[in-house]
Amino acid sequence: MTDGQRAALVVLTRDDDVRATLSSELQRRYGPDYAVVAFDQPDAATAELLRRELPVAALFGGLGGEDPDGLTALRGLHRDHPGAMAVAVVRWGNFDTARPIFEALTLGQLDRWLYVPEVVGDEEFHRAVTEILDEWTNRQGGGFEAVRMIGDRWSERAQHLRDTFGRNRIPLGFYDADSAEGKALLEGLNLDAPRLPVVQLRFRPERPVLQDPSDLDIADAFGLLTPLDAAEVYDVVVVGSGPAGLGASVYAASEGLNTLVLEPEAVGGQAGTSSLIRNYPGFPTGISGNRLTFNAYQQAWAFGSTFHFMRSGQGITTEDGVLRLALSDGASVATRTVVVATGATWRRLDVPELDAFTGRGVFYGAAVTEAPVMRGRHVFVIGGGNSAGQAAVYLSRYADKVSVLIRRAALADTMSDYLIRELQALPNVDIRPRVQVVGGTGSDFLETVTVRDLDTGAETVDSAVLFVLIGSEPRTDWLGGSLARDRWGFLLTGAQLLDDAASPAWPLERPPALLETSTPGVFAAGDVRAGSVKRVASAVGEGALAVTLVHAHLATLARAPA
Ligand SMILES: Cc1cc2nc3c(=O)[nH]c(=O)nc-3n(C[C@H](O)[C@H](O)[C@H](O)COP(=O)(O)OP(=O)(O)OC[C@H]3O[C@@H](n4cnc5c(N)ncnc54)[C@H](O)[C@@H]3O)c2cc1C
Repeated sequence: MTDGQRAALVVLTRDDDVRATLSSELQRRYGPDYAVVAFDQPDAATAELLRRELPVAALFGGLGGEDPDGLTALRGLHRDHPGAMAVAVVRWGNFDTARPIFEALTLGQLDRWLYVPEVVGDEEFHRAVTEILDEWTNRQGGGFEAVRMIGDRWSERAQHLRDTFGRNRIPLGFYDADSAEGKALLEGLNLDAPRLPVVQLRFRPERPVLQDPSDLDIADAFGLLTPLDAAEVYDVVVVGSGPAGLGASVYAASEGLNTLVLEPEAVGGQAGTSSLIRNYPGFPTGISGNRLTFNAYQQAWAFGSTFHFMRSGQGITTEDGVLRLALSDGASVATRTVVVATGATWRRLDVPELDAFTGRGVFYGAAVTEAPVMRGRHVFVIGGGNSAGQAAVYLSRYADKVSVLIRRAALADTMSDYLIRELQALPNVDIRPRVQVVGGTGSDFLETVTVRDLDTGAETVDSAVLFVLIGSEPRTDWLGGSLARDRWGFLLTGAQLLDDAASPAWPLERPPALLETSTPGVFAAGDVRAGSVKRVASAVGEGALAVTLVHAHLATLARAPA
């Protein structure tokens, strides 16, 4: 390895031509940053990589032709380098590789596949390689630190901030306050009794330091608290920037509407926390939820949507025929229409003694940022839905062992078949049916978890970390009393508002539009809506549909007598 090379790109194929082509293409483009090493046999690769002690960014394994068992060889090598991206490389025309590739992707044994470049400087090949390296870099973290944070690794606040910075793609360096590095950095800042977490904005020339900052303190320091023009009446305010809000803001702004988007946490919502979305049309090998939604954010912004971060919607009222939205920073904004796209959040475990361990061994959601810290640990994933399945697959890359705990007898009713097969194929994952977590103990960090067998009542105590993915609750508390909701709190829209014929929740003579809520001109899209499908594509689609209904409503307002 020469200076500046941070990891290896490994080529493994018996085909001399393919090996030579891949090596030279990779070497010419990526040589200064990565050591390109090529092998014709897995044993030779294993020995050489061990000898060189190189981290591996990507394993490019030939498949088909002279490498009929290419996937087996690739899998063997990947076991030694689980952080690397596993990539199958096939020659154009080797169509019989399609089935094994599909199977391997489904079983999580492969991250990507691509064609061997047929010409020198094949840009499609290089675009795919760049995306692979981008994904690997994202998984690693490190590098440029726009923001530096020193805090207690397991404090809920530090974790929330780490997660928020990560999901907003802000390059962050995190240092545990107890580590030698963390202590030295704190000392260097000369703070008297520092209040953790300490956050330093290193991209600002004066490098300001914030101690235990609130979200608004951070937004202010980032220069994000541009006051809203009190006189402005927006065409549409989109509340929430998950897939539904992003869908709405892309279409609204691209169709010329004056659009404001509010987001208190991170662009992408729940989808932004998913390590790999495999069922979004147009991405045959999947795409990270963060990448997908961040691209949509950039698209909405480029069309002219205004984004206001770190502020949430707090209530909607109607004043003189105009809607007014109260914001968490005390301001308010006037608008002709609203799209509520506040989605849903994870349901909490109803075990009081585990509350104190939230963020200290009990994590809600997939917590992608925490996964690498699970090395050497036993992880319990609680939940039987697709999100739990995805989280278990992702965590199994790092944790020693992953157990999926479910109350039902089997996963078949709640999880997609491809995910069940993927979990069953992973050697370090097991599924524990008919069990429930009922307690836990620890000091700074969760140490033991008590699990009850729902059939026998017997209780066992394990040492494990919990990832809880037991379904979601709509984020509609802020709308209580103003918009009609179902008994779970999801927003009623369209014909649902007329279900109770005796006292319909709809105030006008004209029927409500498809996604219209009980307040005319306020629409709901995505997971927050009663009866929604809870998929990224449907949330995006509902966001786009809401904009069509917004246009129709604006046209009605324009026609109404003044
Ligand atoms: C780990 C995981 C993996 C998933 N994988 C897949 C998958 O592979 N395929 C698939 O199709 N679906 C998947 N889903 C489901 C999918 O992510 C959701 O259906 C989708 O994100 C819903 O989009 P949404 O915009 O309606 O809501 P959300 O994604 O929940 O976004 C809502 C946004 O609103 C913001 N917000 C909340 N309250 C307020 C307020 N008061 N004011 C302003 N903003 C507010 C939130 O901060 C959030 O950013 C997954 C979900 C999870 C959690």
